[in-house]
Amino acid sequence: MNLRIGHGWDSHAFQAGVPLRIGGIAIDHPEGLAGHSDGDVLLHALTDALLGAVAAGDIGTFFPPGDARWKNADSTIFLNLALEEIQHAGYRIVNLDATLVLAKPKITPIAGEIRERLADLLNMDTKAISIKAKTPEGLGLDHVAQAHATVLLEKVEDPEEMKSMSAVIENQRHLEDVVRNLLAEVHGTLPQRQTVKVKVFDTEDIT
Ligand SMILES: [Zn+2]
Repeated sequence: MNLRIGHGWDSHAFQAGVPLRIGGIAIDHPEGLAGHSDGDVLLHALTDALLGAVAAGDIGTFFPPGDARWKNADSTIFLNLALEEIQHAGYRIVNLDATLVLAKPKITPIAGEIRERLADLLNMDTKAISIKAKTPEGLGLDHVAQAHATVLLEKVEDPEEMKSMSAVIENQRHLEDVVRNLLAEVHGTLPQRQTVKVKVFDTEDIT
């Protein structure tokens, strides 16, 4: 069997007055995660894990830090690009295991909702998606959220399956266009899909 493994890690500081998004869902909490995009620490770690598994660089390779086009961007855009990259390389996701490290809010009560959201975004069974959480004991990082994500990929041998993956990505692209248009309304510019790849691996992540 042709397998690949990928690991991603990310961290963001909490900031008052910012909406909190983790794993593609909105979470009711007094503080959100500071970032150039929506600060979704879990989707960023997952994006890096997927890109890493096919050695396609990292999130900053495609979305350079500070690029005005990705200000407040929905991080599902980054995830969707990573899905396109693994599909291009001929792989599908077997399973995903992630650990969030944060003092608050409690993740256990919403882990099921995050798993369902990720299952939708990745077109996977929720049973193949694991979301765990720990508090940052002894790290002195109570005002930071960290995420670790590990993915296992396998080579797709059946061309029909590859076609159905493309259909999912097309669906996501529609969503992405909706987000782009919303951003354009707010910022007055229409961001273009990133096509130029710059190989940068030591990324300063402010996405
Ligand atoms: Zn990030």
